[in-house]
Amino acid sequence: MEKLQQLYEGKAKKVFATDDPELFIVDYKDDATALDGLKKGTIMGKGVINNRVTNFLMQKLEKEGVPTHFVKELSDRETLVKKVSIVPLEVIIRNISAGSFAKRYGVEEGIVFDQPTIEFSYKNDELHDPLINTYHALALKLATKEEIETIEKYAFAVNKFLKAFMLENNIDLVDFKLEFGRLSDGTIVLADEISPDTCRFWDHTTHEKLDKDRFRRDLGNVEDAYKEILHRLMGE
Ligand code: ADP
Ligand code: UDP
Repeated sequence: MEKLQQLYEGKAKKVFATDDPELFIVDYKDDATALDGLKKGTIMGKGVINNRVTNFLMQKLEKEGVPTHFVKELSDRETLVKKVSIVPLEVIIRNISAGSFAKRYGVEEGIVFDQPTIEFSYKNDELHDPLINTYHALALKLATKEEIETIEKYAFAVNKFLKAFMLENNIDLVDFKLEFGRLSDGTIVLADEISPDTCRFWDHTTHEKLDKDRFRRDLGNVEDAYKEILHRLMGE
């Protein structure tokens, strides 16, 4: 497999073409951004951890019946993935109130919901990823009704598996963001990443934050939190 030209550099990853038109290589960086890109920094070793954790979880999810873009881990920071056309929706599932939900609805963080919530943001940096409902997504032709139904089904399946799996490691899965994409034949698969950058993880006993909120909120010990997640999930 040959790594060809860089196609895209995002905030946390770079995407490269390969000699196979159906495959890309993603390369995880240590760069971190928050507050709609206003806060920038580096989390040493983050790229390696997010690469390992994402691939570990995606392989587990495949076994649970959720198709993903994962093909093969190539190195510490690089993974071979199926090329998709990203559905421009950030899919957010919540089990416990936190972040923008708590702010928007004027409630404290830490309220445990009776059932998970789902919401979508329109993935568009210029518009600052606005909250969007499924009618708006259909009107904007971001996805078809069938695709949205499939995405919702997979997102709840991810939550069911991940919530239970994290709790086995004494971690509460508070909320997380997923991205889905279309393979060249139109099949919807889970893409992008599942990591402490994109999930809120709280220690079940102490409620200590073990995710990117340590960076967003300047709580300190950011690197340690990422290492702790890698350690609890994969024993490394
Ligand atoms: P952002 O674009 O939000 O700054 P990243 O730095 O994580 O995010 O960049 C990775 C980009 O690659 C994202 O835009 C993501 O949607 C996209 N992406 C993730 N998986 C795939 C894939 N399998 N095929 C094509 N694009 C992908
Ligand atoms: N999230 C993400 N990328 C985004 C926005 C949110 O990965 O662009 C994740 C975030 O890490 C959290 C969940 O989605 O786990 C819900 O985030 P929220 O809407 O509360 O926004 P935030 O408080 O992070 O701005």
